[in-house]
Amino acid sequence: AHEGILRRQTLRESAARTYARALPIVPVRARGLTIEGADGRRYLDCLSGAGTLALGHNHPVVLQAIRDVLDSEAPLHVLDLATPVKDAFTTELFRTLPAGLAERARVQFCGPAGTDAVEAALKLVRQATGRSAVVAFTGAYHGMTAGALDASGGAREVRVARLPYPQDYRCPFGVGGERGAELAARLTESYLDDPKSGVPTPAGMIVEPVQGEGGVNPAPDPWMRRIREISAAHSVPLIADEVQTGVGRTGTFWAVEHSGIVPDVMVLSKAIGGSLPLAVVVYKDDLDIWPPGSHAGTFRGNQLAMAAGTATLAHVRENRLAERAGTLGARMLGQLRSLADDHPCVGDVRGRGLMIGIEFVDPYAENPTGSGPPPAAPQLAAIVQRECLRRGLIVELGGRHSSVVRLLPPLTLTDEQAVAVLDRLADAVAAAAR
Ligand code: PMP
Repeated sequence: AHEGILRRQTLRESAARTYARALPIVPVRARGLTIEGADGRRYLDCLSGAGTLALGHNHPVVLQAIRDVLDSEAPLHVLDLATPVKDAFTTELFRTLPAGLAERARVQFCGPAGTDAVEAALKLVRQATGRSAVVAFTGAYHGMTAGALDASGGAREVRVARLPYPQDYRCPFGVGGERGAELAARLTESYLDDPKSGVPTPAGMIVEPVQGEGGVNPAPDPWMRRIREISAAHSVPLIADEVQTGVGRTGTFWAVEHSGIVPDVMVLSKAIGGSLPLAVVVYKDDLDIWPPGSHAGTFRGNQLAMAAGTATLAHVRENRLAERAGTLGARMLGQLRSLADDHPCVGDVRGRGLMIGIEFVDPYAENPTGSGPPPAAPQLAAIVQRECLRRGLIVELGGRHSSVVRLLPPLTLTDEQAVAVLDRLADAVAAAAR
């Protein structure tokens, strides 16, 4: 079955398919961290549906929540009508929101993907401010629909200004650390301050507290606070894209809690649906002046996703899984740094909580600019990914050059599983570096 399914899907599916190219496996069963393939092999899944599976695959509380809805004969599809299932989800979601937002939050259900919620957030701030430009940051990833794409890294679009996101390892100013972050903040400030620049005041600023697809770049807390100050001083709503960082992944329930800032808008998806499609925008009530019908969509009312999401949010909160992700992630980062000591091709190890990135470089080549870290080594990262798969470990690549191996294990990862993941990864790196 394994070979046949792979062959048929390669023939029938789009040339643009992504994960299936690098990961030629056929998952048929899964529990927690583990996926079983049609070939009978077992894999440790550190891709977790691109960070969606906060509790891993088929967690009992999630399955039970889905079964309860099915057994109750509640309607599975009623557009955005009020239901007890939605009421429970909203109650649990609001319980988790950062103070300062929770007391005055409004939610718009979008659907069904993260990119839809990004679109809604951009539309919301444009309607609320009557302005059109948006500030986004280099290396960002916000989705694949037009507005979200504009705000993401590679695209060029006049309505979106892209300002430097602070990066320690590949600092755009070549200094890194706090100084690099401060310079990045000052550029944003002067962009908005300069009356002669002809720059229109933007409708909003959208930021990932930790860039995921961009190669796992955690924003320094002081920079997040400065961005908050600058946006507030110019009455520009700040949108936190927590599609990937949310629900405990980075060590706090929402990643904005590290810096203590309160964004005006939060974009949430992935883990909030407990492995089923769900996306929402949460925002301060004073922005809630868009007319009825401003944002619609047939699949905003996914009852199964809301039930699975309620169970996931509650389980993460009640079991303090965010804290667990923080301590376990810090320990794993420490161990990975010693991997970097052994292998010069490991240029950088970084992350926050269980959002971890390992950047591969060509240690013997010079940076084309004459200074700074060695050039990225995407081929080597791809070999590491393949060697991981051979050892039964699923990892994802990211970063502008696809040179960053990313780990996004479930928050339920045990100490023993963490050891197994790091052992397999270390073996894979050793094999790839040979
Ligand atoms: N924002 C961020 C930060 C993301 O990581 C992603 C997906 N990787 C998206 C938005 C888009 O979500 P989706 O793929 O569900 O449209």
